[in-house]
Amino acid sequence: MTSTKTTQESSLFEQIDCPLCGANDYDVIKQSRYPAGITAQDLSRSFSASSAHELLDQVVCCRKCSMKYVNPRPRAELIIDSYSSAEDPTFVAQNDGRIHTFKKYLSKVLAIDGRPAGGRKYLDIGCAGGASLVAARSLGFEPTGVEPSRWMADFGRRTYNVNIHDGILVPGMFPESSFDVITMWDVLEHVPDPKGLLDLIRSLLRPGGVFVVTYPDAGAWITKLLGDRWPFWLSVHLLYYEPATIRRQLQEAGFQVKALKPYLQTLPLGYVIERAKPYVPPVGWLAPVVNAIGLKQTPLTYHAGQTFVVSHKPGA
Ligand SMILES: [Zn+2]
Repeated sequence: MTSTKTTQESSLFEQIDCPLCGANDYDVIKQSRYPAGITAQDLSRSFSASSAHELLDQVVCCRKCSMKYVNPRPRAELIIDSYSSAEDPTFVAQNDGRIHTFKKYLSKVLAIDGRPAGGRKYLDIGCAGGASLVAARSLGFEPTGVEPSRWMADFGRRTYNVNIHDGILVPGMFPESSFDVITMWDVLEHVPDPKGLLDLIRSLLRPGGVFVVTYPDAGAWITKLLGDRWPFWLSVHLLYYEPATIRRQLQEAGFQVKALKPYLQTLPLGYVIERAKPYVPPVGWLAPVVNAIGLKQTPLTYHAGQTFVVSHKPGA
């Protein structure tokens, strides 16, 4: 950062080094499309939980490690403020589908780990309206969540009677080595400081504990096929991982990767169509047909590059 920048834009955005290797040497792979005179309020509107705001930021690819990331990016404090005030009734209305998906994948985690859930402590970071906590509880875990959106956290506590801490995960929130399983479902790609957060997560896990991440894979075949229409090029996504870069990020934070697989999500067909419309306009033609023949609530399992990584903290 230079001290000579005085424009309004420079108070909203910051130049960063590569979040994976620390280099400052990159190629631009997507140009910024922000309108002139963008305000803090415009920016903050882009950061609601499931917002369908298309990517306006410049995306770069590190010449040293191939990490793809937003740079310059909106300032971290603006991002966190925006998440704190996010409200999203449409998102939580789909929680039944999410609980189903989380149960399926937490069962896979237990199978990979080889130990039962029975009373073990589970933490979900960025737990939104608490769907993952409901799934974890039904499998026998003792679940806890952390969520920056006060509205989402309240919804989860009120609707499911689950334990959710307000805010973002910070040192001192929980004792060291106090969890057996920690998850971040579609959260890591939103985080301004992945290294700092992963170090903190490792300290909260017991030796031998499991850490699970899902992320939208910028190198997946579907991503390449859809090009600019890939639905995860979003203003809220700061980091665009691929298998090599996510593996390196986890390994450098002290985790051993045990599995990296496609993550299939199940949501109602009508909802998926509504969310896909801005990116794949022909899909919009399907909406009236699906409504007319009563298929709006039909569960649809789909894959758009989301990837599931199971890793563990060595020891015990
Ligand atoms: Zn790099």
